[in-house]
Amino acid sequence: MSQDVFGILTHLEILSVTDNGLEEQAARLILMDSRKECSLLREALQLRPALAAILSHGGSCALCSQAFLTTWLECVQFISLRKDMKVSGPQSVPVRALLCSYSCFNQSGHMYYGVASV
Ligand SMILES: [Zn+2]
Repeated sequence: MSQDVFGILTHLEILSVTDNGLEEQAARLILMDSRKECSLLREALQLRPALAAILSHGGSCALCSQAFLTTWLECVQFISLRKDMKVSGPQSVPVRALLCSYSCFNQSGHMYYGVASV
């Protein structure tokens, strides 16, 4: 049942008007293309500084490295201070991570936990 809900949400990511889904998809295409070594879109962005400024706020998915403009899913990953930061103490701390989609979030094997806003 929950898998069906997430499948529907994945489709809504692309089609939703209220979430600017189509705009987000267009922004992602431009961002991904502009990261290529030879990108005509990156050159075109130099002629559109206002658009380039908007796109400069984009990020990358912590799992798949795909570009995104709007944060789709805010997560945390708990890291061990001793193991990951070489700091004494047994504590773990949450570190913010951003994912591009529910498709990435629903992949097995990662240690990201979704953050719910109230
Ligand atoms: Zn992703």
